[in-house]
Amino acid sequence: MITRSDQPVQQDRLSVFQFEEEPSWQQVLRQAVTCPRELLSLLELPCELAEGARAGARLFPLRVPRPYIARIEKGNRQDPLLLQVLPVQDEQTETPGFVPDPLGEQASNSQRGIVHKYHGRLLLLPGQACAINCRFCFRRHFPYEDNTLDSAQWAAALDYIRQDSSVREVILSGGDPLVQNDRRLAWIVTQLAAIGHVERVRVHSRLPVTVPQRVTPALVSALTDSRLQAVLVVHCNHPRELCQRVCDAMRELVEAGVTVLNQSTLLRGVNDDAAVLVELSEALFRCRILPYYLHLLDRVSGTAHFEVDETRARQLLGTMSSRCSGFLVPRLAREEQGAPCKSVLPPLYPDPD
Ligand SMILES: *Cc1c(COP(=O)(O)O)cnc(C)c1O
Ligand code: SF4
Repeated sequence: MITRSDQPVQQDRLSVFQFEEEPSWQQVLRQAVTCPRELLSLLELPCELAEGARAGARLFPLRVPRPYIARIEKGNRQDPLLLQVLPVQDEQTETPGFVPDPLGEQASNSQRGIVHKYHGRLLLLPGQACAINCRFCFRRHFPYEDNTLDSAQWAAALDYIRQDSSVREVILSGGDPLVQNDRRLAWIVTQLAAIGHVERVRVHSRLPVTVPQRVTPALVSALTDSRLQAVLVVHCNHPRELCQRVCDAMRELVEAGVTVLNQSTLLRGVNDDAAVLVELSEALFRCRILPYYLHLLDRVSGTAHFEVDETRARQLLGTMSSRCSGFLVPRLAREEQGAPCKSVLPPLYPDPD
C-alpha cells in the first residue's frame, strides 16, 4: 500500500491511501509535460498565455513532471509553483548585467565533468538532463553536451579527484544527478568511496521534491551502503512544493542516515515574502529538512524578471530571523565569480522607530 497525497503538509490533512501501484519515476519522467498548450489546458489557464510560453520555450524548453503539476492551483496564473515552470515572453528581454554564464563555470571547467572552484569540494557532473526545467535556472545556457561522460572521461574525472588529496567532498550536480539510474549512482558512490581522502558525497537535486517517486529503496541504499557520509541538498522554493508524498520520501532518507538540507532561490513573485519564507522553513523542518542556503538569483540572461534586490533580500532575512528558530534561518548567499566561497549577506532589521 502506498501513501500518497498532493496536499501541502502545512495543511495537516490526512494522507490519501491508494491501492493501485504508483508509476515508476522513469515513467513519470517520460510522461512529463513539454507542450505549453497542454500545461495551460491541464491547469485551466487562458490560451492567451500560449504565445509567451512558446516564445520562452524556444530559448529553454518547457518540461514539468505531472506530480509537480498536481500541486499547482488551477486557474491561478500567479501560482508560485507555476511561475517557476511556465515559460514567458519576459525571457526574451535582454537586461544589462544578465549574461549566459555569470559564474564563469565554463572557465573553471578544466576537467570534463568537473567544476572545481572551492577548496575541499568539487562538483562532479554525471550528465546533462533535468526532470524539470526551472525558468530561473542558472544552467539554462550551460553547454551540457560537452559534459556527458563516456567511460574514458569517467576514468579521467575520477583520476582528477584521486590526485587531489584536498578534496574531502564530492558534490554530484548537473543537470540533475538523480536522473541517473540507481545502478549508475551506486557505481559512482563505490568509485568515490575507493578514494581514501574522499569523506562525503553530496547530491544536489530537485527530483526528491518534484518527483518523490525518485526516492527508491535502491537509491537510499546507493547513498548509504558505502563508508561515505551522504548529504542530499533538495532545492525547494515554496512550502506548497512539500506535499505529504515528499515528506514520506524524506523520512526514508533521513531514517537511513542521509543528512537532508535545502537550498532555495529567492524569486520575485514566488517566495519574496517573509511569511512564505518562514512557512517554507517550518514546512521543511516538518519534513526533517534543514534550511541551508537562500540564494540570490544568478544573473543569467532571460531571468531578470525574477530578481529580488539585495536590500529587500536582507530585509526579508531580518524579518525571518526575528520570527523563527535560529536553525530555521537559511544563509542568504550569492555566488561571485572568482571568490573562494559563496558570499553570505547579513540581515537588515526594521528600524526600531
Ligand atoms: C556552491 C558550490 C559548491 C558548494 O559550496 P558550499 O558552500 O560548500 O555549499 C562547490 N562548488 C561550486 C562550483 C559551487 O558553485
Ligand atoms: S532542476 Fe536545477 S539544474 Fe535542472 S533546470 Fe531546475 S534549477 Fe536548473
